[in-house]
Amino acid sequence: MDDIFLNLAQKAGQYNRSLDQLPIGVTHPRQQLRDGIDDKLPEAGEDAEQAIRALINSAGPGLIHSRNPRYFGFVIGGATDTAIAADWLTSLWDQNAQAYNSSPAASIIEEIVGGWLLDLLGLNRSCGIGFVTGAQMANFTALTVARNAQLQKYDWNPELHGLQGSPHIDILCGESCHATIHSAIRLMGLGQKNIRTIASDPQGRMKFSAFKKVLELCQGPAIVCVQAGNVNSGAFDPFTEIIPLAREKGAWIHVDGAFGLWAAASPDRKHLLSGHRDADSWATDAHKWLNVPYDSGIVIVRDPQVHQSLKTARCAYTGPAKSGQRNGSSWVPENSRRARGFVLYAALRNLGKKGVAAIVDNGCAMARAFADELKQIPHASVLNEVSLNQVLCRLQPPSVADTDAFNSAVALRIQEAGDCWLGTTEWHGNIVLRISVSNRATTIQDVRQSISSIKKAIELELAAATIPISKRGRR
Ligand SMILES: *Cc1c(COP(=O)(O)O)cnc(C)c1O
Repeated sequence: MDDIFLNLAQKAGQYNRSLDQLPIGVTHPRQQLRDGIDDKLPEAGEDAEQAIRALINSAGPGLIHSRNPRYFGFVIGGATDTAIAADWLTSLWDQNAQAYNSSPAASIIEEIVGGWLLDLLGLNRSCGIGFVTGAQMANFTALTVARNAQLQKYDWNPELHGLQGSPHIDILCGESCHATIHSAIRLMGLGQKNIRTIASDPQGRMKFSAFKKVLELCQGPAIVCVQAGNVNSGAFDPFTEIIPLAREKGAWIHVDGAFGLWAAASPDRKHLLSGHRDADSWATDAHKWLNVPYDSGIVIVRDPQVHQSLKTARCAYTGPAKSGQRNGSSWVPENSRRARGFVLYAALRNLGKKGVAAIVDNGCAMARAFADELKQIPHASVLNEVSLNQVLCRLQPPSVADTDAFNSAVALRIQEAGDCWLGTTEWHGNIVLRISVSNRATTIQDVRQSISSIKKAIELELAAATIPISKRGRR
C-alpha cells in the first residue's frame, strides 16, 4: 500500500519539474482525447498501481497546466506545493468535517483558520464563517441566510412556510454582477425576473445615483448585492456610498468578493474595499487568489446567530453543538463534507500575512506591467482601469473587418502555441482578450515571454486574416 504513495510522490515531483516545459493548453480535439482513453470498466479489479497509471495516461493529454505562472485564463490561481501537500493529507486522513464528533481536528482547525481569514479580509472576528466549494456556493449560502433574515423581519418564517405567499423580496444587483449571483437567486426560488438591475459605469461599477433611485422604490424585504472585483475589469462597487444607504433602509447587504476581497490583505490595496466591513455577508474563494487547490470557497455572515439559522433542522446523530464545539455543517448547506480547513491552515502558515499581501501586490503589479506592454502593441488598447489583477485588451487593426473574430482567433492561436494561456470575454458587447494574474509565482519575465507570444499570434493572425474565416480549416 505504501509504495503507491511513494511512487506518486515521485511522479508529482517530476510533474512539477516539467511544468515549465509542458505546453499549457490542450491542442487535441475532444474526439481524439476521448478515443485515447480506455473506457472499459474492468470485470475484475486492477491493482492500485495499474489503476493510477491508467488514470495518469487517460487524463494526461486533456490537462490544462494552469499551475504554470503564465496561465492567465478566467480567474484561476495556481495551487502552491504546500497547499497541495496539505490537500493530500486531507484525503489521506479522510475526515468528515460535518460535526465536532466526526472530526474534532477538522472542527478546531476550521475555527482557527476562520479567525485568521476574518483578520486578513478586514472583517470582525465575531462574524460567522463557513467553508464551501466555491464562491457560487458562498453566494448561495449568504443570500439564503439573507432571504430568511429579511423575511423573518416581516414576520414570515420561510423555513416553515417556504416562499409560497411570502412577502415580496426586492433584490438589487449591479448590471455587471457575476452570473453566480443570478444562479443563486434562481436556485433560491426567488426568480431572476424579480431582480432590480442597477446600471453600471463603463468600468462595471454600480452607479450610485441609479442605485439610490431604485432603492427608493423598495418597500419591504430587500437584499442588495454588491461586488468586490468585477470578474472582467476587477472594479469595485462604491461601498462607502451604497452600504450606509442600504443599511438605513434596513436592506441586507451582500458582497461578492470571489477574488477582490483579498485586496483587504494588502496594506497598499485595502483602500479599494473601504466600507466593506459594514455589509451583512461576504463570499470569497481561496482557490482563486490564495492559490490553494480546488475546491475552496468561504462564506461569511456578520451575525453568527443569523448565519446558523441557515439550518435549523438537524440530523439526529449530530444534534446541536455542545458549547465550545463547532459543527462545520451548521454554517453551510452541505452535511458530509471535506475538511477544507486543513489546506487553508497550512497554506496560510506557509504564506504568512506578508505572503498573502505579496500575492495581491504581485498580481496587481504584473497586471500593470501587462497593460503597459500591451499599450505598446499597434492597434491594441487596454479597456479597463488596471487597479487590480485583471486586464482587458481589444485588438483593432484597421485592415481587419471582423474585429470580434480577430480577437477570438488571436486568443486561440495563443492557447495553441502553448507558451501562455489567456481567454476572451465579452465587454460592452465586444469580444476582448482577458488576462487575470492570479498566480503568486508570475514574474516580469513571464509577462515579457507572454507578450512575445501574444505579438507572434497577432502577426500570424494578421497574415492569415486575408483568408476568410469560413474557408480556414481548424489549425
Ligand atoms: C469566480 C467568481 C465567482 C464564482 O466563483 P466559483 O469559485 O467559480 O464558484 C463569483 N463571483 C465572482 C466575482 C467571481 O470572480
